[in-house]
Amino acid sequence: MSSPATAVPSDIDPLSTQAPTVSSLTTSDAAFAKATQLPQKSWTIEDSEKLYRIQGWGEPYFSINAAGHVTVSPKGDRGGSLDLCELVESLKQRNLALPLLIRFSDILEDRIERLNSCFARAIARYNYKNVYRGVFPVKCNQHRQLIQDLVRFGQPHHFGLEAGSKPELMIALATLKTPGALLICNGYKDREYVETAILAQRLGQTSVIVLEQIEEVQLAIVASKALGIKPVLGVRAKLTTKGVGRWGGSTGDRAKFGLTIPEIIQAVGELQKAGMLDCLQLLHFHIGSQISSISVIKEAIREASHIYVELAKLGANMKYLDVGGGLGVDYDGSKTNFHASKNYNMQNYANDVVAGVKDACDERKLPVPILISESGRAIASHQSVLVFDVLGTSDVPREIPEPVDENAHQIPRNLYEIYQSIGPENYQEVYHDAIQFKEEAISLFNLGYLGIAERAKTEQLYWACCHKIQSIARQKEYVSDDLEELEKVMASIYYINLSVFQSVPDSWAINQLFPIMPINRLDEEPTQRGILADLTCDSDGKIDQFIDLRDVKSVLELHSLKPGEPYYLALFLGGAYQEIMGNLHNLFGDANAVHIQLTPAGYHIEHVVKGDTMKEVLSYVQYDAESLVESIRRQTESALQQNKITLSESQLCCKITSGVSASILIFSLN
Ligand SMILES: *Cc1c(COP(=O)(O)O)cnc(C)c1O
Repeated sequence: MSSPATAVPSDIDPLSTQAPTVSSLTTSDAAFAKATQLPQKSWTIEDSEKLYRIQGWGEPYFSINAAGHVTVSPKGDRGGSLDLCELVESLKQRNLALPLLIRFSDILEDRIERLNSCFARAIARYNYKNVYRGVFPVKCNQHRQLIQDLVRFGQPHHFGLEAGSKPELMIALATLKTPGALLICNGYKDREYVETAILAQRLGQTSVIVLEQIEEVQLAIVASKALGIKPVLGVRAKLTTKGVGRWGGSTGDRAKFGLTIPEIIQAVGELQKAGMLDCLQLLHFHIGSQISSISVIKEAIREASHIYVELAKLGANMKYLDVGGGLGVDYDGSKTNFHASKNYNMQNYANDVVAGVKDACDERKLPVPILISESGRAIASHQSVLVFDVLGTSDVPREIPEPVDENAHQIPRNLYEIYQSIGPENYQEVYHDAIQFKEEAISLFNLGYLGIAERAKTEQLYWACCHKIQSIARQKEYVSDDLEELEKVMASIYYINLSVFQSVPDSWAINQLFPIMPINRLDEEPTQRGILADLTCDSDGKIDQFIDLRDVKSVLELHSLKPGEPYYLALFLGGAYQEIMGNLHNLFGDANAVHIQLTPAGYHIEHVVKGDTMKEVLSYVQYDAESLVESIRRQTESALQQNKITLSESQLCCKITSGVSASILIFSLN
């Protein structure tokens, strides 16, 4: 582990600072002590609420109770809550060690309800003469219990699934049992994928094959002719409207997919020639995930609506408009168009989709389409909480320096003078002086002009100066960038029992921000500033960017550890895209997963998934390859008995299942 004491800001050039102002002993020690005292006002849970911005990102699911613990209200505004800290304690008593991934099924249900009621309200408000039929993109969280819950909770709303690969299509086929719910088939397709998607109709699924590459048009035509079944087809349009932020544009998850306008025209021509233009019923677009700006969404809807209208005019049997994903999550609670936030709410989103599509159709006197969104992040993020604990901390030296005697080297003498002089008037300039002296001491040491004891004394004094300067700077409303840097240099390292790379891959890979905060001691002032590091001892294993009202902050306010007392931290809103990696690379810190459901008597643990060591990917997402195959086989058999499918069709249908253990290992991680 690297010592934080060596972490001097490298962008500060020690030679460029002005001459030291050591003689300006303007502030008395008493005044200094007064100026640097920590605020005496007692800390309240409201202070913690404000500091960690929990209302901004957590409402209505997360808040703080009088005991200073985070509470969870899994049913949102509909009542019932539990103390997260107590829950963790009781799970620990059941031998479930931290880190723990706790899933709240009720939150998942609430998110589905919310999305559907937002669209229902928008549809009523604009007198939109058709319905909303959402689908959940399986890639967002492929865990079996989650997908099963999702299908169950979605039943009243005919909520369907979106598959982006063959393994995901298998998951969807085996899980989706809601009559009338859509099964949207996206992603790269080979013949087998297309055939299975077409045959899914025979199994009672409402499957739509979305053509994303021009080659897929012929693939669909050939497969359809061979099977003698007419598929429902869609096209994915490459819009000129670009998603912004880290998921937009070229970094977007599937930016390589989609047909250009000339390709769409070509596809229409090919389908017409094959006598299949009536199969083309859906227009799809996806401009990226986490779209933070509502204006980008509006623009995309406007462009897509016009393409939809034109397709209808060209003779396609248009029925569906699928607006893809992108509905954002407010990770920092700032309600802005910052990449970790969004400047609109779910209702604004639904309103803009409904109103935008209606306008375009009304203009051309066309019936309005069934609306589909593939909202993944907005559905799955809130339902899981990752709880971990702090194993220990590493702090910069904190000793109060002894006076330096007159015979000592000039540098420690100067530094001691600086140390004594530090006050609210000069704290900024003496910071640079302190750095300069420390750098000088190192140079002299390297040239053999300074003994090791004097170097040690110099470093000790340097840190003492930094502490004094920092405590003044913390009381200021505004500090210069270099003093903000000081917080980073002085930050403690909190070692956590979690693999950042496994459990929060997007924090590691794309610096995504998630709200992280303690779940206990919130009635106490957090006097420390720290970054989080896991035990891998490398740069992959740390979190040093945290949510803030404006931009990000490089340190998190934390409490100093008390011996024998646990200190729990939690990462929130990580239920989308994070959980899949969590179990793939097992070094240590594989989180146990627990599913919690609220009951009138308290809560109920639905499933416990022990985070075991090395198993295959399939079983990690709690699928058993054999039972998946079995489920599809049984469905095929009953379709066969009811004469809905021929024997050769059923054999084809089972073909996809033969390679399951290999192909499903290649989970799409995008
Ligand atoms: C990833 C993806 C989604 C989900 O996007 P969210 O922003 O999580 O809602 C939807 N559709 C497609 C085609 C995707 O690739």
